[in-house]
Amino acid sequence: MISVEEAWRRIEERIEPLAAEPLPLEAAEGFVLAKPITAPIDLPPFDNSAMDGYALRAGETQTARAERPVKLPVAGEVAAGGWQDKPVAPGTAVKIMTGAPLPPGADSVLMLEDGRLRDGAVEIRGPVDPGRHVRRQGEDVRRGQVLLEPGLRLNPQRLALLASAGIREVPVHRRARVSLLATGSELAAPGAPLRPGQIYDSNRITLKSLLRAGGSTCDDLGVVPDDPAAITKQIRTGLGRDLLLVSGGVSVGSHDHVKQVLRELGMETLFWQVAMKPGKPLLCGRLGPTWIFGLPGNPISCVVGFLIFIEPLIRRLEGKPRAKPRYAKARLTQDLHKKDDRRHFLTARVSAGSDGFLEAAPTEKQGSAMMQALAQANAFVVAPEDCPFIPAGKTVEVLLFNG
Ligand code: AMP
Ligand code: MG
Repeated sequence: MISVEEAWRRIEERIEPLAAEPLPLEAAEGFVLAKPITAPIDLPPFDNSAMDGYALRAGETQTARAERPVKLPVAGEVAAGGWQDKPVAPGTAVKIMTGAPLPPGADSVLMLEDGRLRDGAVEIRGPVDPGRHVRRQGEDVRRGQVLLEPGLRLNPQRLALLASAGIREVPVHRRARVSLLATGSELAAPGAPLRPGQIYDSNRITLKSLLRAGGSTCDDLGVVPDDPAAITKQIRTGLGRDLLLVSGGVSVGSHDHVKQVLRELGMETLFWQVAMKPGKPLLCGRLGPTWIFGLPGNPISCVVGFLIFIEPLIRRLEGKPRAKPRYAKARLTQDLHKKDDRRHFLTARVSAGSDGFLEAAPTEKQGSAMMQALAQANAFVVAPEDCPFIPAGKTVEVLLFNG
């Protein structure tokens, strides 16, 4: 059986990011840039006023005092979207609005509120610093400068920057396409009556919403019984996607057919069984371009497998070169004992302690099918392999959910 690290290493060495495609800015949110983007223009593109006020020559205001104001006749007005070629004549000011280009000759702006307009002249009661309230051409970004590096996810802030530089289309990695299949003859759909021996399928909705939380959508291939022919048929329809997730049927039971079916379909196995609890019988392989994961049917195994392997894999495929599971550090609120030498993932509630550090409280019940504990959890405490006892107060690693 291999370690979690070895399993991830085998995944990592086979990752190739998905192809880049150009997308209009309006559709690019959440996608990851595939190439650097350089500024086609200066930002701001021209000197402009940061305030509504009067554009003037600062030098002419240096003797201004409250009791002896400098008076500059106001010769015209320039609004946002306007343009004035004519220089501001010495000894005059021009009324200017926020965002309006600074007319030639002027070097600063007096705020509207700070000047009194009387008989067509503005009275200035104190010296104006040169450059005051002027946003200089290129002070934000110089033309040719790199605006955004590849590997950055396009969020509202970054989209704002690109739009302000006039960029309409960006090269991004396409998002992963995933298909999802649940297997198990015992599975009933929520809403249907439960016959003896049946349980309701929860893994499909869990995985679907975990995928959605990361921005992926999936084709839902439904539920099939533990029947090799039925499994084969549905898996065939799921191939051709970037990932195929199959829940259940990957363990060693006599009705666990998924592994055999995938082998017969030609899957190359990267690993099966990882030294972790829950989630040991995890299967990972490749069939052509498709990544395949067979997730153990126990609901919490399914979640842990998704968070430590599938979620970071998807982010890497989508262009985040260093994506890893979302681990953080937290202080344990109670003693932990552990019997075997696998890595344990315990459902836990993580919150900020009184000193601001994170605290992790394992749920009262633990077990790979404890649904109420799963619903209480917002994280997993990671109990390392070689650690039979962890005392309360110790800092441990926690695995967080996405979003
Ligand atoms: P398996 O991995 O098929 O051996 O299943 C392990 C356990 O998970 C069994 O108790 C199954 O009944 C349960 N299980 C399998 N699939 C699901 C599912 N989709 N939703 C909830 N529990 C499941
Ligand atoms: Mg089963």
